[in-house]
Amino acid sequence: MNICYVCENPFDGEEIKRHEEHVIPNAIGGRLTSYEFLCEGCGVDLADSIDTPFNDHLQVFSVLHGISRDRGVSKKAAIEVISRVMPQGGGKAPTYSLNSDFTVIPDRPIYFVNEEERRVSVCCSVPKKAKVFMRNPELSKLKAQGYEVVLESDMTQFLVQGSLRINHESTVVLRGVAKIAIEYALHCGVDFSSLRGFKADLIDRCEEEKLRSAVVQYYPTTNEEKLYETGKFRHEDWYPNHQLFLFSDGPDLYCYVELFGAIQKYVHLSAHFLGRLEVQKYLQRVQSWNFDPSDWYGGPKDLHMFAGQFGIPFTGRPLEDVQKDVLHRAETRAYEIDADAQIDKVRNLVQLLVQFVVSDIPAGFPSVDALLRKAADAKSGLGFTLVDRLKHDMRYALQWVHADFSQFRIQSEGEPAPRLAGRVTPDERRKYAAFRLYESLCSIGRENEIAFLSE
Ligand SMILES: [Zn+2]
Repeated sequence: MNICYVCENPFDGEEIKRHEEHVIPNAIGGRLTSYEFLCEGCGVDLADSIDTPFNDHLQVFSVLHGISRDRGVSKKAAIEVISRVMPQGGGKAPTYSLNSDFTVIPDRPIYFVNEEERRVSVCCSVPKKAKVFMRNPELSKLKAQGYEVVLESDMTQFLVQGSLRINHESTVVLRGVAKIAIEYALHCGVDFSSLRGFKADLIDRCEEEKLRSAVVQYYPTTNEEKLYETGKFRHEDWYPNHQLFLFSDGPDLYCYVELFGAIQKYVHLSAHFLGRLEVQKYLQRVQSWNFDPSDWYGGPKDLHMFAGQFGIPFTGRPLEDVQKDVLHRAETRAYEIDADAQIDKVRNLVQLLVQFVVSDIPAGFPSVDALLRKAADAKSGLGFTLVDRLKHDMRYALQWVHADFSQFRIQSEGEPAPRLAGRVTPDERRKYAAFRLYESLCSIGRENEIAFLSE
């Protein structure tokens, strides 16, 4: 692109410079970047107006999945707590945060009294504050009565449950998702004229009503989607991940956006799309495969070789610049997943299940039992019908043997998947979104201690 898609000024390399944009924000682990469509000035503006509030809202997933911290700031998420005993310590109610190591701490000193063991536990995020607090009259009195006063850096042992608040239907989230979708379309080379209307609604006019009708909650509508989405953290060995699918249906251009395996939306980018488009997909893990920067350092000879491998220009450039580009490419590659790997996974799951049901394998094999359990859960949660139909008529298996799953999440029986999902009642879609949040807690084995409260 020769112009910035926001201000529409042409790039001249001086006044209007190209900005390196993360299509999925860097702060939530996005690795896909492009110099193609945004100027530096607008890059800064969009970061302030859309990215920062969006990233803050989704920070909770980075904390849950222990995403390595950026720029030395350790990640925390606000959490509401129910404790076994009432904390004491006067003044206004404290706020609590959950850290990446699952410790929970209050923002100001509080204490818990254990009468049986005659012990007082003081908790605070700032040890200095806690030390001062331990000398206050309340605690001195308890000490004089023979209580042992100890300092704790974590209050998890006093908790029954913690609750994380999220509103995945908030304007902040919808705008963030919409921006990812439009930038992915531009990255894939979609002509800006098809996207100008969407951009105007999203950025120039911030029209909330239009935003809400364009960005809708995903819902699995086909049997393969229902099976795949149930307990997917168990079979996706790249979980959690970020995914983008760009596809068209006649004049309608859509982007499916999935973040952390938990936020799933369809974005209707245009109803006047004129071009032709192959389905474009981007999949990345949120955590890298084993990326070690030291593997990618070396003398000029090594650097020359690495640059060649990635197609990075070498001749006439300062070595530091080449080194920077090599590291960036190597790191990016460490997150990438082949989109076809997901389709293979879908096919394997469905075909294995069909085989198990058709051959009526008796219970007792762990992998068979696990898949049958997944199918039963998909039936009760999402109305998965494949097993029942197979049992009713084994010939139904035939259509699954050669099924092509390349239209997974894109289209089914000639209809675009976003339109099918749009017919599911809002209540069902809300329930499904809540289920996704619950599963993201199951994936880290925390569903008994932490809950999500959808607003
Ligand atoms: Zn601009």
